[in-house]
Amino acid sequence: MAFEAVIGLEVHAQLKTKTKIFCGCSTKFGAPPNTHVCPVCLGMPGVLPVLNRKVVEYAVLMALATGCRIAPESRFARKNYFYPDLPKGYQISQYELPIAEAGHLNITLSDGTVKRVGITRIHMEEDAGKSTHDPDRPVSFVDYNRTGVPLLEIVSEPDMNSPEEAGAYLRRLRAILRYLDISDGNMEEGSFRCDANISIREKGAGVLGTRTELKNLNSFRFVEKALAYEIQRQTHALADGEAIVQETLLWDEAGNRTISMRGKEEAHDYRYFPDPDLVPLVVDEAMVEGLQKRLPELPDRKKKRFAEQYNLPDYDTEILTGSREMADYFESCAACVKNPKTASNWIMGELTALLNAEGKTIEDAPVSAEDLSSLIGLIEEGVISGKIAKTVFAEMAETGKAPKAIVEARGLVQVSDASEIEPVIDRILSENPGEVEKYRGGNKKVMGFFVGQVMKETGGKANPKLVNELLQKKLSQ
Ligand code: ADP
Ligand code: MG
Ligand code: ZN
Repeated sequence: MAFEAVIGLEVHAQLKTKTKIFCGCSTKFGAPPNTHVCPVCLGMPGVLPVLNRKVVEYAVLMALATGCRIAPESRFARKNYFYPDLPKGYQISQYELPIAEAGHLNITLSDGTVKRVGITRIHMEEDAGKSTHDPDRPVSFVDYNRTGVPLLEIVSEPDMNSPEEAGAYLRRLRAILRYLDISDGNMEEGSFRCDANISIREKGAGVLGTRTELKNLNSFRFVEKALAYEIQRQTHALADGEAIVQETLLWDEAGNRTISMRGKEEAHDYRYFPDPDLVPLVVDEAMVEGLQKRLPELPDRKKKRFAEQYNLPDYDTEILTGSREMADYFESCAACVKNPKTASNWIMGELTALLNAEGKTIEDAPVSAEDLSSLIGLIEEGVISGKIAKTVFAEMAETGKAPKAIVEARGLVQVSDASEIEPVIDRILSENPGEVEKYRGGNKKVMGFFVGQVMKETGGKANPKLVNELLQKKLSQ
């Protein structure tokens, strides 16, 4: 029997507003505990929430970016549950009438295919506080600074079928949030959190299987690993005729397995009802139109433009539009060099390797777009070879010096003068009569040996094209 996995993701993205969703307290991360609090976010009796307009604007921007239908009128609801980090005893969220529904986004898979994943709904809600538990004493602490920080919950359709697709969806979703500049999408700091729902069914079956929900996955890698594990576990269970229990699971990274956290709660457990403290939210056409104008060029469109304007393959455009900063860096280079593809190769190759090695992002790249363009210019003008350029690049990254200065100081200028290279070639040919014989006897592979020798003799500075030409001429004499 063939099985297939079905995956749906719920993402909580923290919005980059200055103040909380229903009060004027700061949202700044990392302040001493309980310093960004007031009677509203502490849930004191008699206080009233006032909705932050920015939160609504950000929700509408995200809805527009993902092709959602925006509700002209939506409602806030109370989701009731008890937990020490939730001082009111309920969370203000949206339930029956969310601000946006029925959107989608496109993901690109490693084989180049593009898949459309449906977005069920997007709604606004407030975050809860943060509890910490002392490992040595029977004591817990609670910090209410995060209470009332605005979140967007983005719920996908169960449209994904593999961990790879889930990973691609999350990366694209996060890229869009960052392009819009409405969330920093930092998974480690908890400003981008994912719950993954997964079930297995017989391939082609119309109905969904029983799902489990994986909570608190705080890196893309963990999401993919946890899903891969669950697919194995559930498939084996089903093949053995066991039933899957609908439950909430945690990923145990050290044990490399999922563990049960609790039985899955149902919506009716929360006793949702419309929040009587907040009037229905009206988003009118004028507001939507105004925000539509503020939309930046988003990844899909940028990708298409890059392909047309710079004549780049899909693989390149996908990577280069992964973030706005990466795209801007590329465009700065592309504007200054002859062949944009060379700029793309350097950014995806040397620069990315360097950033990965140093754990940096392109915003704090140790080589500026301007300096990388000059380096590529030196290759294009034939001043240095591509190989020497890699050495120069490493030194640029280390010292911050301009490529030209490095090339001059270290005497790396490429030798393109035949009269300087010819004597070297003559000597090598006379020192290796056996190899010359082989070449003339038809073994053309020996050419590589000769080129290597010349490069070695000239410290890699000889113009490789010229070396090849001269060698060919002399060997056919
Ligand atoms: P909650 O988990 O809060 O009860 P929902 O019922 O809205 O919320 O479902 C949350 C997510 O679970 C959605 O992304 C949805 O696509 C996904 N989902 C629902 N049923 C299944 C299933 N049988 N298999 C996989 N994913 C599912
Ligand atoms: Mg859920
Ligand atoms: Zn407050």
